[in-house]
Amino acid sequence: MELRTLLYGYNKRQFRFYLNETESTVVKQIFDDYIGGLTLQKIADRLTAEQVVYYKDKVTWNKHMVRRILENRHYAGDEEYPAIVTRAVYEQANEKRLKKGGDRETDSEQEKYFKSHTVCEQCGGRFTRRRNWSQTHEKWYCTCGCKNNIYIDDTLFYGQIITILSQVTETPGILHVSTVPNETYSPTLDVIRAEKETDRMAERKNIDFLPIKKAIYLNVSDKFDCCTLDTAKAFSDLLVRYFSKNQPIEDINLQTLRDTIDRIYINKCGTVKIKFINGAEISKEDSYGSDSNSTETKDNN
Ligand SMILES: [Zn+2]
Repeated sequence: MELRTLLYGYNKRQFRFYLNETESTVVKQIFDDYIGGLTLQKIADRLTAEQVVYYKDKVTWNKHMVRRILENRHYAGDEEYPAIVTRAVYEQANEKRLKKGGDRETDSEQEKYFKSHTVCEQCGGRFTRRRNWSQTHEKWYCTCGCKNNIYIDDTLFYGQIITILSQVTETPGILHVSTVPNETYSPTLDVIRAEKETDRMAERKNIDFLPIKKAIYLNVSDKFDCCTLDTAKAFSDLLVRYFSKNQPIEDINLQTLRDTIDRIYINKCGTVKIKFINGAEISKEDSYGSDSNSTETKDNN
C-alpha cells in the first residue's frame, strides 16, 4: 500500500473518486459531533480511543486533523469529490468553527495589549479591565488603589483612542515634538588617531583588505559613539510618514498600536493620553487643537 495521498474518506479507481464506506462514515460523524457541541479535542480523543484508523497503523488523532477535515470543502461535494455531508452541514460546522476561534482570539489579543500598555497618570500603576455583573458593564481602572478611582468603560476608552489616532492620521504634523536640535559630532583623540591609521593602511601599495575593513568598521563604530543623535526627530519623521500613508481610522488596529505607541495614560478625569514612540504625547483635547493649557495639570506628586 502506498502513502496516503488520497483525501480521507475516499477511494480512487480509474481517475474517479468513490466514497470509502468506513472513512466517509467517520467524516460524517465528525461533522455531526462538532455541530452537536463536541470540541475538536474531544472528537480527536474519541477517535483515538476507538482506534479509528486514519492511515495504515495510524490510530492516533489530534485536533488539527479533525479541524482540517471540517474545513475541507471537498466533503460537501466540491469538484470531482462526491459529497459526504450536505452543504448546509458543512457551512454550519464552519460558521461555528470561525466564531469560536477567530473573533474571541483577536478580542483577547487586543485586551492583552491594552492591559500591558495602559498606565495610571496619577500613580504610574497598571490599568486593567474587569467585566462586571454582565458583559456590558466592563470597566477599566487603576489596580494600585490610588486616589484615581476613575472607571471608564470600553466605549469611552476605545473611543478616545480612535479619536486620537484619527486626528493623527488627518494631521500627522502634530506628532512633531519640539526638541532642541543638538546633533553634534566631537571625535575623541583616539578616534582621530584611528582614522589617520586606516587612511595610512589604505595608502599602502599592497593593501591587505581584511584588516583594513575591520579597522574601518571599528572606527565607524567609535565615531558613532561620539555623536549625539536626536532620535526623537528620527522617530517623528518615521511616524509622520507612517500616518500619512494610513487610511482613515474607523476601528482599532492592533498592528498600528504596536508600531507607533509607547504607552497609554489615563488621568483622574478619565482622559486618555497616548505617548507615541517619539515621545509625543497627545490626548483628545490636544488633538482637537484647543489652546487650553491643561497640560499643566501633569503629575505634581
Ligand atoms: Zn493609580
